[in-house]
Amino acid sequence: MNPTPVGADVLVGVLALQGDFREHEHALAACGAATRRVRTVEDLEGIDALVVPGGESTTMSNLALRWGLMEPLRALVRGGLPAYGSCAGMIMLADRIEGGRPDQETIGGLDVTVLRNAFGRQVDSFEADIAMLAFGAEPVHTVFIRAPWVEQAGPGVEVLGTVPTGPAAGRIIAVRQGRLLATSFHPELTGDARIHRYFLEMVREQA
Ligand code: GLN
Repeated sequence: MNPTPVGADVLVGVLALQGDFREHEHALAACGAATRRVRTVEDLEGIDALVVPGGESTTMSNLALRWGLMEPLRALVRGGLPAYGSCAGMIMLADRIEGGRPDQETIGGLDVTVLRNAFGRQVDSFEADIAMLAFGAEPVHTVFIRAPWVEQAGPGVEVLGTVPTGPAAGRIIAVRQGRLLATSFHPELTGDARIHRYFLEMVREQA
């Protein structure tokens, strides 16, 4: 038997200004979704969902502003377009950021305050297996690279994952608010498609 892949008939726009958009394309393709690189306003036409990759949120913000994408992206997200952001993408989807550059803007939509580079210099990058039941019983192998965490989340925000142990214990690393999903870590780098599958199920619910 060959069940219909969760991403069938879904066109995901992947913001491709900067960062690891190719890895997101691969993860989405593994779930059967079609993808389109978003670099211009025209690229937004007809997409069913948006993915904002990991990378450098200050650069992404600059490029989105320079290329006239910021306002159209805000309008689409405000209008109900499902969106998923990993790491820098989480920052881009946050309504409020701490530790941002003064001129840094975000698409917003998620009622959270995100702290950039939250895990500190000594532990810039690390990996851990963390249970997050929303994505299944198996723990998720998480990769953090100069990652943010969610410092504060509004009442409509569902916390899907927190750091279980260590100095960052209890810190929020995965959230959902309606049709918006964000993770501090990078499932696009580990070959575990469960988070992308979860997102595509959200997109289906929305359709
Ligand atoms: N530190 C980066 C930023 O603030 C995010 C890092 C990442 O996406 N891996 O944009």
